[in-house]
Amino acid sequence: MKPAAFDYHRAQTIPEALELIARFGGEAKVLAGGQSLGPMLNLRLARPAHLIDLNDLVELDSVRRAGDLLVVGALTRHHRVATDPEIAAACPILAAAASTIGHYAIRQRGTLGGSLCHADPAAQMPLIATLLDAEIRVESAAGRRSLRARDFFAASLVTALAPDEMVTSVAFPVAGPRSGWGFELFSRRHGDFALVSVATTLALAPDGTVASLRLALGGVAPTPLAMDATLAGHLGAPPDAAWRARVAADVAAAIAPDEDPRIPALYREELAASLTARALAAALAPAGEGLPHEPDHE
Ligand SMILES: Cc1cc2nc3c(=O)[nH]c(=O)nc-3n(C[C@H](O)[C@H](O)[C@H](O)COP(=O)(O)OP(=O)(O)OC[C@H]3O[C@@H](n4cnc5c(N)ncnc54)[C@H](O)[C@@H]3O)c2cc1C
Repeated sequence: MKPAAFDYHRAQTIPEALELIARFGGEAKVLAGGQSLGPMLNLRLARPAHLIDLNDLVELDSVRRAGDLLVVGALTRHHRVATDPEIAAACPILAAAASTIGHYAIRQRGTLGGSLCHADPAAQMPLIATLLDAEIRVESAAGRRSLRARDFFAASLVTALAPDEMVTSVAFPVAGPRSGWGFELFSRRHGDFALVSVATTLALAPDGTVASLRLALGGVAPTPLAMDATLAGHLGAPPDAAWRARVAADVAAAIAPDEDPRIPALYREELAASLTARALAAALAPAGEGLPHEPDHE
């Protein structure tokens, strides 16, 4: 199918984009990489009267350190997120997760901001933003505000963004010393959306016990799930195999995936347990393991 007719606008500056969004509001969609919006238009699941193309706003394709934050522009492509040395150094789990999105061609066009705003519950960028409770910076013609990622994702494909707002950048906390990370996903075919994905970061105390622990899951609920309440009882222990198994079992018991005729809830629960155990083991592996890479040929 082809999209329904729309008027096309190519914004040259951020103020111009914000003015167009304010003028057309709910009648408009902004276009970033087009990797989700394109199919939605073609299937006529989205029928905006106006399309506001952001692709000339090169200032939104950016990566910079600001103290203990890594600020990534909304128009930064997945490929750059996966391969930028500054991101790999400051927030390696973000780079690793981006390297697993779809296929090479999709990563060349798809953007961080587009992925967050599309808000697919199985998508990698919403999962990492939720894990790290990233600060999502948005602008409208009326001003600026920031939302925590954990307040941003409202439901499957629904965010807290107002119709006259756009995301301009995302601030992720920089990984601390003595911290590790693990990212695991399972999909039926290479490049498909994950059935279940798990992301974790942890830090050890000098005595080797777990001082801090974050873990979030994708694909098991309408939004990415941060498991803070489940993890609270697991701090202060040595992270041996028995500990990892206990955390994995508690995580699986705490989720309630929907029954799906093709994918039973029990299957997702079992995936959640085994991917959690693997992600925790990866987070505890010696530094250097699990470093992001981007396969060139697919
Ligand atoms: C075959 C295929 C496989 C894929 N596999 C995966 C996968 O495994 N994992 C995954 O995470 N994704 C996957 N994707 C989706 C891909 O990551 C998209 O790039 C992403 O979901 C949307 O980013 P985009 O820049 O293309 O946004 P677009 O498609 O341009 O826009 C998506 C939505 O976000 C809105 N939007 C975009 N930018 C902004 C902004 N700055 N402010 C406000 N609203 C904005 C748009 O209006 C639209 O509603 C896949 C896509 C395809 C086609």
